[in-house]
Amino acid sequence: MCGVLGLFYFNQPVAPDLVTGLIALQHRGQDSAGILTSDVTLHLKKGNGLVSRVFNEKNLSRLTGSLGIGHTRYPTIGPGTSEDAQPFFVNHPYGIGMVHNGNLTNYFTLRHELETKDLRQLTSFCDVEPILNVFASELEKYRSEPLKPEHIYQAVKTVFQRAKGAYSVVALIHQQGLVAFRDPSGIRPLVLGKRRVSAEHSSHSLRHSVLRKRPVYEFAVASESVALDLIGFTEFRDVQPGEVIFIDRHHRLHHHLLNSCKPRTCIFEYVYFARPDSVIDGIEVYEARLRLGDTLAHEVMRRNIQPEIVIPVPDTARPAGAALARALNIEMREGLIKNRYIARTFITPATINRSISVRQKLNPVRSQIQNKNILLVDDSIVRGTTSREIVQMVREAGARHVYLAVTAPPLRFPCVYGIDMMTRGEFIAKGKTESQIARLIGVDELIYQSYDGLIQAVRGNYRDRQFCTACFNGNYPTGITERDLRALEAERRRWMEQAEKKKSE
Ligand code: SF4
Repeated sequence: MCGVLGLFYFNQPVAPDLVTGLIALQHRGQDSAGILTSDVTLHLKKGNGLVSRVFNEKNLSRLTGSLGIGHTRYPTIGPGTSEDAQPFFVNHPYGIGMVHNGNLTNYFTLRHELETKDLRQLTSFCDVEPILNVFASELEKYRSEPLKPEHIYQAVKTVFQRAKGAYSVVALIHQQGLVAFRDPSGIRPLVLGKRRVSAEHSSHSLRHSVLRKRPVYEFAVASESVALDLIGFTEFRDVQPGEVIFIDRHHRLHHHLLNSCKPRTCIFEYVYFARPDSVIDGIEVYEARLRLGDTLAHEVMRRNIQPEIVIPVPDTARPAGAALARALNIEMREGLIKNRYIARTFITPATINRSISVRQKLNPVRSQIQNKNILLVDDSIVRGTTSREIVQMVREAGARHVYLAVTAPPLRFPCVYGIDMMTRGEFIAKGKTESQIARLIGVDELIYQSYDGLIQAVRGNYRDRQFCTACFNGNYPTGITERDLRALEAERRRWMEQAEKKKSE
């Protein structure tokens, strides 16, 4: 999972707003950050770490231009070295920079084809690089004529034919414009914002020469609507699955639907990944989390347990915890306090890091826990390491009984679309019953959301909405061969071994 952002302003520099937007998307990846801008030439800055660590006043001052793209990365296929930080760019044709969120399921096949048949040399293990090379190769065919929207559509069509998986992409073409597209299944989110340029915000000469002739708009494309909120875009819509957006150098918007499919949005965006103040494919994430608490309450009420208070595991489970407590007619208390300056546990790559960072991140409030029956609420259980640590912490703080209610059903299948759970062996739920998992985690009772409850809660009023739910039921929207699945799992295992080795050195 990564955060992508593209901005095309009229005559203002984009770099400061790219940083603001990337900070709003920081929860989507903390491994590296990067920005590429374009004016008379291209300007690139990228590096490992948080957005606030990579960018400073000095390097921002050289990222000039009104057109730019940015990225926050969590490593999916590669080992997460600085060579894998995005944006990536190719010099030819035009100079094209690209960022993406997602994962290619045929990465190894496509990489091999590009290197042996297309004679393109790839420099990283980042899966945006094959997408960029396919796109650039196709666009090169039209280099002898002025760039038209149809050329962009054709290039993206070829990407769709060759690159399998889930990807939301933003690209800039030097001195030509901004491009964005979302894969035909629409698994990863992407939102397009637009705002009219007012004469007061423009230089005197431009105001008279351009703005008086026609309305001019500025554009933004981002993984989540929250990034657009923060940089002042109030009008936005979701990019549709299979849709291509091209904003040309005269700030004219062109868009074309290459495939008309309904979105199969990753349901985990609503459960865990996305910020609660985002709206994805029309569904408000915060509202979805409240409903997850309501449907989970039905499961809790079926059990013979007597919780006295609800304690959400901060921050994601808070809305569900509030709804659950209300439905059970008991109080919700903040019994676990989070240190805001520690990175998200679930997306910390190595297991050993996880249990250390849980203790650094959360601390129990004894007065709220001692001698009580506690119902903890969490969003999901992946490997179980975090849950086990939290339960132990709550017991040490004096709880009489500890129950754990989870807003998602058991995770049993790998995600091949860009989320850090890529091998079947990683899941605590693999091949185990609920009571076996409860014993491993150390809770008196474990209550999972039902699959139907999950769907019903996230859907809300969108009764016919479909989602990707592959990690719960193995139903992959794009289809996937066992060969590709095994290759992805092997690569992931190799990467984990490398990370463990690096740590012990
Ligand atoms: S497999 Fe799960 S985490 Fe991955 S895209 Fe589908 S729903 Fe999201």
